[in-house]
Amino acid sequence: MLNFDYYNPTRIVFGKDSIARLDELVPADARVMVLYGGGSAERNGTLAEVEAALGARTVQRFGGIEPNPAYETLMGAVEQIRREKLDFLLAVGGGSVIDGTKFVAAAVNYAGEPWNILETGGKHVTQALPMGCVLTLPATGSEMNCFSVVTRKSLQAKLSFASPLVFPRFSVLDPVKTFTLPPRQIANGAVDAFVHVMEQYMTYPVNAPVQDRYAESLLQTLIEVGPQALATPEDYEVRANLMWTATQALNGLIGAGVPQDWATHMIGHEITALYGLDHAQTLAIVLPNLLQQRRDAKRAKLLQFAARVWDIHTGTEDERIDAAIARMRAFFESLGVKTRLSDYGIGADAVDRIVAQLEAHGMKKLGEHRDIDLATSRRILEACV
Ligand code: NAP
Ligand code: FE
Repeated sequence: MLNFDYYNPTRIVFGKDSIARLDELVPADARVMVLYGGGSAERNGTLAEVEAALGARTVQRFGGIEPNPAYETLMGAVEQIRREKLDFLLAVGGGSVIDGTKFVAAAVNYAGEPWNILETGGKHVTQALPMGCVLTLPATGSEMNCFSVVTRKSLQAKLSFASPLVFPRFSVLDPVKTFTLPPRQIANGAVDAFVHVMEQYMTYPVNAPVQDRYAESLLQTLIEVGPQALATPEDYEVRANLMWTATQALNGLIGAGVPQDWATHMIGHEITALYGLDHAQTLAIVLPNLLQQRRDAKRAKLLQFAARVWDIHTGTEDERIDAAIARMRAFFESLGVKTRLSDYGIGADAVDRIVAQLEAHGMKKLGEHRDIDLATSRRILEACV
């Protein structure tokens, strides 16, 4: 096992009716900004429930944070907070609202142009407003991590930052609030969580059986509950398991002490920035082809994945690896997430554009061995078409 420093201060308040707990979670004298998305939280009553729980506190709304949250939108919240002297942020939504809120939290008192936070990966963030979350979409793990991904539309750039200062103080997870999700978002969430686990599991062995088995149990749970969540949308236990699995897929625990890849995410971000695909769609496209390209470097773990996650025990090593990758692709497709660029009307001419974006954003050494260079990314993308 590799050395690690694991820190996660986010308190999770989980279960039915837990939004009422906001009254004890948010400081009584807080001047709160409630940030939300395009209107789902307004339509399904979550926002009203949140505001009722906040009682007599000063509360201002900031809505309209779009999927793949835009810097241009978020700077509106930064201005409102400065003008109105608000001091506590409450994100109500999915990963986009939470990531956007983390950026706003870090940007309000940032010394310099806030886009610099993304350009430098969060290195110079020295303070952030406190924030909490009410999660409505199980997917990203953003509710219990210190990562944020923000898009600057004018530059077609989707960049991420990390800072321990933007861990949510708390996150409220009520599975009932996910009942209104459209099938596409449930499928996206299951795929995103699956790929988060894979980014931390599918590397090379470092004698960390506890992380391996923990990762495998998260993968198997997603394979089990993902389809159930689509088939029976109001099954509380299914949604509860999906929600807690997605959180644990990226709260740092399975990544402690093991190598991490993240190339699928980095390549996927460029596809979203250029073509607007959903985050999970890009991952479902890239990961199967990345695993094919990297099969030698990842051979031992691919064989373990085949045996332990998919129960594949017969055939040559290469046949078992092929079968495991095929099963994974079929799982994504079975949820309704297509796995080829051409399924989204994107042709071979995209490869040059995506590689140029990777180069422009310094993504020239990706993967757990930092050896996915631009030529390898190109081969992966050519296979994605
Ligand atoms: P999302 O972009 O937050 O939301 C997708 C859609 O779901 C929105 O249109 C939203 O509608 C709708 N929605 C949310 N909750 C709903 C509910 N309960 N009922 C009905 N509709 C609902 O999706 P996401 O997958 O959670 O987040 C994706 C973003 O997170 C991407 O930008 C991705 O890059 C990023 N990400 C972050 C991390 C991280 O660690 N921080 C990891 C992976 C990905 P409204 O807008 O109307 O609410
Ligand atoms: Fe993700």
